[in-house]
Amino acid sequence: MGQPKKSRSRRFPPRPRSLAGRREQAASILDRLAENYPDSACALVHRNAFELLVATVLSAQTTDARVNSVTPTLFAHFPDPTTMASAPLEVLEEILHPLGFYRAKARSLNGLANGLIERFNGVVPATLEELITLPGVGRKTANVVLGNAFGIPGITVDTHVGRLSRRWGWTRETDPVKAEMELAKILPQPQWTTICHRVIDHGRQVCHSRKPACLECPLADICPSFDIE
Ligand code: SF4
Repeated sequence: MGQPKKSRSRRFPPRPRSLAGRREQAASILDRLAENYPDSACALVHRNAFELLVATVLSAQTTDARVNSVTPTLFAHFPDPTTMASAPLEVLEEILHPLGFYRAKARSLNGLANGLIERFNGVVPATLEELITLPGVGRKTANVVLGNAFGIPGITVDTHVGRLSRRWGWTRETDPVKAEMELAKILPQPQWTTICHRVIDHGRQVCHSRKPACLECPLADICPSFDIE
């Protein structure tokens, strides 16, 4: 296989005009991701839907590794919505301190736990429509929970999925909800959750925001944004 050609700096890469063409192009990228990231999975450690919901809410503005460093203590003290709803704020703040924004996050967990008790009898609901009614839960968090706790495929458009999807021509949208709708048309639904994990891993390890490592990238020969500036 020859050396990929250099592309000029540009806002959007070229992409097939038809939906069928875009699906075909996406399929080759998905195959390559599957080869390179066969074990991609949710990086937030959790034992049940409640723990995953809480961990995902906490992951805003911080890393999954940092969240994983506080959740064992958090769940040892407050293992369910009932205990978390009545948790003293100062205790939550102390546990969440390493995450930053710990005061807001402590209040957020209180509100989330209360919402679960008041509206869902303390049980995490398994639909997107219900999940997004909970305080602090948007589509991104809801899709993480659906995909990883309930096995219901969901597209999570976080910073990595949004950026790489634009680089691959899957979407031109910067709005996560609009991007999710476009991706839903070209990505195979049964694999949505796994695809997102693989894209996130590739974004973290290779296709960085500021300096993508194109010369070391296993997708270099098929990526429409190879050597972007
Ligand atoms: S690192 Fe470069 S070649 Fe690889 S996916 Fe990102 S933009 Fe494309």
